[in-house]
Amino acid sequence: MSGYTGRFAPSPTGALHAGSLVAALASWVDARAHGGRWLVRIEDVDGPRCVPGADRVILQQLAACGLHPDEPPVWQSQRGALYEQALQRLLEAGWAYPCACSRKDVAEALAARQRARPRHGELVYPGTCRNGLQGRPARAIRVLTARRLGPDAWEPVRIDWQDRRLGAQAQDVEAEVGDFVLRRADGLWAYQLAVVVDDAAQGVTDVVRGEDLADNTARQIHLQRLLGLPTPRYLHTPLVLGPNGEKLSKQNGARPLDLADPLHAVREAAAVLGLRLDAPTLAEALAQAVRQWPYRPAD
Ligand code: GLU
Repeated sequence: MSGYTGRFAPSPTGALHAGSLVAALASWVDARAHGGRWLVRIEDVDGPRCVPGADRVILQQLAACGLHPDEPPVWQSQRGALYEQALQRLLEAGWAYPCACSRKDVAEALAARQRARPRHGELVYPGTCRNGLQGRPARAIRVLTARRLGPDAWEPVRIDWQDRRLGAQAQDVEAEVGDFVLRRADGLWAYQLAVVVDDAAQGVTDVVRGEDLADNTARQIHLQRLLGLPTPRYLHTPLVLGPNGEKLSKQNGARPLDLADPLHAVREAAAVLGLRLDAPTLAEALAQAVRQWPYRPAD
């Protein structure tokens, strides 16, 4: 048995569509090409965005496409104790801190510094609460993205990492994202913390997911280092674009996968990955995908 563990980690905000099947298929094929395990994790930490029953539909869709996890799926909503432990460790180490700022406070602080640079609609947090709450009530918990060298001296955290498809990547997390949230003001766990804790707890060696998530990787590696966790290898796959040229999503008209013809759906997803599947049955097409997979173990 190889030491490889991969995973597909859908958020149950709706059924799988043509775009999300690409990520599912890529992670499955990569695991099989490496003779490894493939897991499914339902990322339902953001309860209000989840659609009841979508998790079941996703698992049925995966099964219909011949993508069967090697272990029973896990649900992040049941793993809060693990996230709490990690958060406590970061708080005790002085890397996490409470923040009193609302979105409006952040926008105003940035405007005052003439640094209002919305990035993907997100504001770069300017570090207002790094030196305490100044009597204001705590809302969220954030993690430092710079190392404290002295009372007002900081060394930015720069993360260099390698993507198996995109090549060398780098991010100055403080400048490009700012201290990011680990637990939200509404008490919900942030995706960044949950994904890092779970990837490590499940022994994930290889993260294969859509390119839209590549930008989160530096934040995740930062947390892995702070928590003393191993960093997996990363492979970010091409996206399926919607009619407006943006990533296909439910918001821009992606329809749920048609389960009546899973072979067709798998062929289309494979084509996005550069694979040409002409085998007549689903099982043979999946085997062909594994044979054609360009990201071989030796890479
Ligand atoms: N749950 C995330 C999503 O559906 C994916 C997380 C990941 O693969 O790291 O977008």
